[in-house]
Amino acid sequence: MPFLERYSLVPASPTVRTSRGFEDGFWDAVDFITEVSARIGIPAADPDPPLIPRRVLDTERCPGAWRVYYHILAAEPGHDIPFSRPTYLGMPTASFQTTRVLGKAIERWVSQANRVYNDFLSSPVQDLAILQRIESPTLRDFYLTRAQAHLRVCPIDRLESQKMDVEVPLDLFPRVLDPANPDGLFQTSRPMAVFESKLSYPLEEGPHDTQLATYALLLEKKTQEPCDYAVVLHSTYPHEFPAVIRRVIREGMIARVAVNLSRLREVIEGSVSLRAARGEDLRLIDSWKDLAARPPGMPAPEEREPCEACPVKARCWSEGATPATGAT
Ligand code: SF4
Repeated sequence: MPFLERYSLVPASPTVRTSRGFEDGFWDAVDFITEVSARIGIPAADPDPPLIPRRVLDTERCPGAWRVYYHILAAEPGHDIPFSRPTYLGMPTASFQTTRVLGKAIERWVSQANRVYNDFLSSPVQDLAILQRIESPTLRDFYLTRAQAHLRVCPIDRLESQKMDVEVPLDLFPRVLDPANPDGLFQTSRPMAVFESKLSYPLEEGPHDTQLATYALLLEKKTQEPCDYAVVLHSTYPHEFPAVIRRVIREGMIARVAVNLSRLREVIEGSVSLRAARGEDLRLIDSWKDLAARPPGMPAPEEREPCEACPVKARCWSEGATPATGAT
């Protein structure tokens, strides 16, 4: 991609991060769940086993394990916003009803542009005319401008190393977790980075940061090498100006993934114990949805600050309310 941000990455200090996806123990929760699947009715040998939504790893803030639990039940809860414009980034969008549909389309348009840009980087004479194949007119202009800058700063013999692997799934736990689907990986040269395209600017400390950290950790697990960066292209919605930012994968982002992993283990372990105590035959349970039991308890009212924007709040509160907390 015309990712000068990728070109300018430098190896991060080894002290920046204390947890790595290639470390022994980081994925213990997934290993534990793999063992559980062998003990209950979710056979590891099933050719098409039911999987836990990978989103559980980048679940947003919650005072307990409830949000991870609801992500196991439903792959994609979340807000959706009505969208109504005839075009966006120069592409027809009259049939799009929501920003979620628009976001998926942007991923496709950017991936198409990235593939074209890879062709440009590989071409013997870096022919800018290749970029005319980019479908979105706005992205085409953006990539063209950035390509010219790229050619100015990057030595010709390094252009090939700037190529991105487009839409390569990170399927490291194929019997348990849905594969992660980053929009791109800079994994053939060092330092490595993950790539995502987004509709709007990804707020720091938000769910997108945790998603980027998850991708970086999975890439570390796959390559056994550090990944300290993410590169994000967003279209500045509701405006239509493509922009690229670089994010350092920080310790705090990794910590949130680690918390979600331990909560995932807590939900599965607690569900197994609860059902065993009730005398249920676990070998008859054949999906994680059927196994998962809502973690007991409910955050006290003063701990519910993370709930305000939670898309599963209504269900979580009604299912978890107790007379003691007074939640309704
Ligand atoms: S409503 Fe609150 S406690 Fe329930 S899942 Fe959402 S953030 Fe967690």
